[in-house]
Amino acid sequence: MTSPAAQAANVVYLDHNATTRPVPEAVAAMVQALQASWANPSSAHGPGQDARRALAAARARVAAFLGCGAAELVFTSGATEANHMALLGALQMSGRERILMSAVEHPGSQALAQRLRGQGVKVDLIPVDAQGRLSLAAARSLIADDVAVVSVMGANNETGVLMPVAEVAALARSAGALMHVDATQLAGKAPLSFAASGADLMSVSAHKLGGPKGVGALMVRKGVALPALLSGRQERNRRGGTENLPGIAGFAAACDRAAATLAADIRHMAAQRARLEAGLAAALPGVHVYGAEAERLCNTLCLRFGTLDAEQVLMKLERAGIVASSGAACSAGGTQPSHVLLAMGESPLHAKAAVRLSLGFDTTAADIDAAIAAATQELLPLLADGLAAAA
Ligand code: PMP
Repeated sequence: MTSPAAQAANVVYLDHNATTRPVPEAVAAMVQALQASWANPSSAHGPGQDARRALAAARARVAAFLGCGAAELVFTSGATEANHMALLGALQMSGRERILMSAVEHPGSQALAQRLRGQGVKVDLIPVDAQGRLSLAAARSLIADDVAVVSVMGANNETGVLMPVAEVAALARSAGALMHVDATQLAGKAPLSFAASGADLMSVSAHKLGGPKGVGALMVRKGVALPALLSGRQERNRRGGTENLPGIAGFAAACDRAAATLAADIRHMAAQRARLEAGLAAALPGVHVYGAEAERLCNTLCLRFGTLDAEQVLMKLERAGIVASSGAACSAGGTQPSHVLLAMGESPLHAKAAVRLSLGFDTTAADIDAAIAAATQELLPLLADGLAAAA
């Protein structure tokens, strides 16, 4: 049996870190909200108040899944907006002009950092080691009381390597800085609790866990008076704009589904990832797995096949019915090597060879076996040629 996502697209879909197929529960909740709760939740009349109640109910379910208070949850258009709100808000709020972030943050956050540099904000990057693990020693030496916010992702989207959020949060606290966690890749793939994380701000996105695109949230710890990015009275004056109720309802349904099966989903994805990793290593020479010695997300396998170029590998795999990505989807299509792998000390040649295979809760053993068979059929001749040439 192949997964529903694979059947729908007629491919084996191994790109769940880029996005996931909306689960049927989310689609149904969205249709229901579009049909029954289309009034404006800010309207005083009956239909408006019904929509307001639907919004409150959805908010409570998302908050329960994320381990935050309902009043701490600010719905946004996704994690990119949430990350912008966190960093820009922290700068404005603190009056400080320096931020720290990991060297492997999402391209959207890196681009924001670049823009801020142009405006005179000092941005220091916390390095990672060859396994993609954040250097706490470097974080310790960079932290100071001029830092507005420290921003570290919960798990890297390319390698799946987990970051020491609680330790960095303690450092941030010691300097009076806010701690922001981009938890976009954690939700639905690891236990997640805003309350227990030690973070002041945390971003998530619905479409990474079976919800729709265009909706996410920033969690803002109670008592943190973070300024709004978009002005307006919605979301307790923290995010203006009529609420995306269909999206939020879909998000809540996806959270409910994930909450009900999270432990089993994690075990399943870990087992299938192990099957894939072992199968590829056994069938092909020169397989190198990134972050193999680090603690990683259960679903992510970032690897290279010798020095075969990622674009060539992905083309061959897609021809054989397997779809995946090289590094971040946002930078795919470009010929730039991944900034994440460069930060891990990889050469540009190796970094351009990296392919990310990311599994979903519904990826089946048959999907994995198909991927191993396809990779063996398509890549073994190329690798054998390479070995022969080198001999
Ligand atoms: N942060 C991380 C770690 C991500 O993986 C992504 C999605 N590629 C984002 C932020 C952006 O999320 P969104 O698509 O909701 O803006």
